[in-house]
Amino acid sequence: MNDRAAPQSEPRTVLLRGGDVHSPADPFATAMVVERGHVAWVGSEGAADSFASGVDETVDLEGALVTPAFTDAHVHTTATGLALTGLDLSGARTLGDALALVRAHRTAHPGERVLIGHGWDAARWPERRAPSRRELDEAADGRPLYLTRVDVHSAVVSTALLDQVPGVAELAGFHQDAPLTGDAHHAVRAAAHAAVTPAQRTEAQRAARAHAASLGIGTLHECAGPDISAEDDFTGLLRLADDEAGPRVHGYWAEHVSDDKGAARVRELGAVGAAGDLFVDGSLGSHTAWLAEPYADAPHTGAAHLDATDIAAHVTACTEAGLQAGFHAIGDAAIGAVVAGTRAAAERLGLARIRAARHRVEHAEMLTPETVAGFAELGLTASVQPAFDAAWGGTEGMYADRLGEARAGTLN
Ligand SMILES: [Zn+2]
Repeated sequence: MNDRAAPQSEPRTVLLRGGDVHSPADPFATAMVVERGHVAWVGSEGAADSFASGVDETVDLEGALVTPAFTDAHVHTTATGLALTGLDLSGARTLGDALALVRAHRTAHPGERVLIGHGWDAARWPERRAPSRRELDEAADGRPLYLTRVDVHSAVVSTALLDQVPGVAELAGFHQDAPLTGDAHHAVRAAAHAAVTPAQRTEAQRAARAHAASLGIGTLHECAGPDISAEDDFTGLLRLADDEAGPRVHGYWAEHVSDDKGAARVRELGAVGAAGDLFVDGSLGSHTAWLAEPYADAPHTGAAHLDATDIAAHVTACTEAGLQAGFHAIGDAAIGAVVAGTRAAAERLGLARIRAARHRVEHAEMLTPETVAGFAELGLTASVQPAFDAAWGGTEGMYADRLGEARAGTLN
């Protein structure tokens, strides 16, 4: 949190005791002293007695757990905010439910240039299918509509939004009456987000930061990039986080760089790394994760956006510029390409330099014993989301549909 987050009226010195204080400095700590919003001491009850008379206030924790503020290492702040301030479809239990929510949202927001919703998951609906274009046109009453699937790697849209993207039908991932993926999805997303006004966007970013703070999250890793958001969205968020109280924001910009000029440009934007959702592949839900063996429910192995050579060039350029590199990689083939590419960069620059840069991999869902060993060797950090397994794991879940039970059981 920023220092100015602490209200001026707060007592100067507070002793908290009788809890379970999680700190590497003292694993058995039960008490702590806070001075002007900063942790000044952690320790045990016996030592806490000596502080009791000198503090402005003493709080009995009654056995509560005290932890440092959390870091959310993979956030799309504006999209999260739009989901908080816009239409949330994650609670829709049926396809009909989802369409009813769209109708209600449309009626409640007559002035918006584009209707944006998020969080649908047809795999959880009894109909087991996404809404058709006709159903969407009817629900949106002819207005532009953009609804992302829960994993945000595919979306369904209305005809009025498609009409704003000339040539979309020629792009990879376009389907006349199925969710859009890949390039077609990126093109409609750009059109939908372009229709969001700067004021709406700032409101969304505020809402996301406030929500994070309410959950005890003190730091956000924003995963932005040219294929995901926009430069002014990214720089606007970094400015907002500087100017207003709330969680810190570390910005990652997912642009492939191959020389020091590219790395310098990423740094000029305010990014701490050319990383985040730099897509090596897509997602399992959308059949776009890059697999070594075909899907169980589709006759192909997904999509590859970067190969080991591209990855080696990126890791080399970033390491030489002292910038953290990173990739989005979910399927086993995608993760294998990251390890192979990073190893090639290590052969060029030396293993110690690669390890010191602490490059990172988002999601890393489908690890193998070989790639786990590769991460350890190369000092790669896996930025993982175990909650995905709660949502889609198990013998009946989406992962089992896509991969069969045996492969699904190894994920996350
Ligand atoms: Zn992401």
